[in-house]
Amino acid sequence: MDHFLYRNGVLHAEDVPLTEIAARVGTPFYVYSTATLTRHYHLFTEALSPLPHQVCFAIKSLSNVAVLKVLADLGAGMDVVSQGEYLRAKAAGVPGDKIVFSGVGKTRAEMRLALEGGIRQFNVESEPEMRALSEMASSLGVKAPITIRVNPDVDAKTHEKIATGKKENKFGIPIARALEVYAEAARLPGLQIVGIDVHIGSQLTDLEPFEAAYNKVADLTLALRAAGHQIDRLDLGGGLGIPYTRSNEAPPLPSDYGALIKRTVGHLGCEIEIEPGRLISGNAGLLVSSVIYLKQGEGRDFLILDAAMNDLVRPSMYGAHHDIVPVLEPAAGTEQQDYDVVGPVCETGDTFAKQRSLPPAGPGDLIAFRSAGAYGAVMSSEYNSRPLIPEVLVKGDQFAVIRERPTYDEMLNRDKLPEWL
Ligand SMILES: *Cc1c(COP(=O)(O)O)cnc(C)c1O
Repeated sequence: MDHFLYRNGVLHAEDVPLTEIAARVGTPFYVYSTATLTRHYHLFTEALSPLPHQVCFAIKSLSNVAVLKVLADLGAGMDVVSQGEYLRAKAAGVPGDKIVFSGVGKTRAEMRLALEGGIRQFNVESEPEMRALSEMASSLGVKAPITIRVNPDVDAKTHEKIATGKKENKFGIPIARALEVYAEAARLPGLQIVGIDVHIGSQLTDLEPFEAAYNKVADLTLALRAAGHQIDRLDLGGGLGIPYTRSNEAPPLPSDYGALIKRTVGHLGCEIEIEPGRLISGNAGLLVSSVIYLKQGEGRDFLILDAAMNDLVRPSMYGAHHDIVPVLEPAAGTEQQDYDVVGPVCETGDTFAKQRSLPPAGPGDLIAFRSAGAYGAVMSSEYNSRPLIPEVLVKGDQFAVIRERPTYDEMLNRDKLPEWL
């Protein structure tokens, strides 16, 4: 459920008509709903209660500091994968002891930053990383709290680019080697083991892979405890999928997911951490764009938009589907037409949808891509020297620009001419 509904014939974000935002900031832009972010965060905290738990929002899905502050004010922790994300979490007021550091390639500079600024735990992904972290912590005279990310070798049954829990993926250590690697971690002077971490992929629409992975984590918890390790915390990752089409998809609910967690690991007395990104942010955001031209081709009509693959790359990168809706509600009984919906970038891959059935549209019309909050703005680029587009946050009847569109001067001034030219 989200808070983007038609009212008086106009698509609204909460109580704000999108036409009003478009008139103020120009298109294209991203818009996020505070109420939807809040609702989704609470679905998880309710699903995990009464187990002791911490929901750590995966910043990589939507990293605007204002959005992070909405979640932080509700009590959310953050899952970060880089120095930049760590600094964003801090800028949003998240205390260090609610920040989890994930990622396969943490640099020494990133380790130092987090050790000095405060950290809940590092999710360590390899032995070389574990040794580097121990050295860095020792040199600072502290112990780094860690979990080790285990790769449970389960098939997440999702898009190959976002499946992370098979043994051929680059993530974590094979679960079969966990005892050995935990034994080494326990011997390293700069580390303090606090638990186990697992994350098997993104956009999972079936609970079964989670169940398989969490059962393996439960067994491992007992085995590690028997070997003398203190396992107090289980980080179960993110990955719960969302419906990208209104019609036929029904991914599992956070409440089902919570029940699964209780069933598989609830008896272990551990604090449960989860790292959802997409389920919190995905349906909390829209991309709003204008039609520039209607081009009638041979056998197909193209709607050419002012948004492009550099603004929302998911369709061209993952073949992803986004529902596309007109901002002005079509009259009941309006006949639909098939369009190829494309951007202006010079690549055939700059196609949002092929032969999509939509109400008739033409130049100047506003359209919205649904479910664009996650992996939308964060994956955008300035390809074709198109400025990054603004982000807008709505709360009730208020809205504010939370990232401005850069000016062309700002873009050009980043390039420097060498003296000899
Ligand atoms: C990407 C990622 C997440 C978030 O995944 P979602 O599918 O957005 O919930 C959580 N944890 C880790 C380690 C990740 O890499």
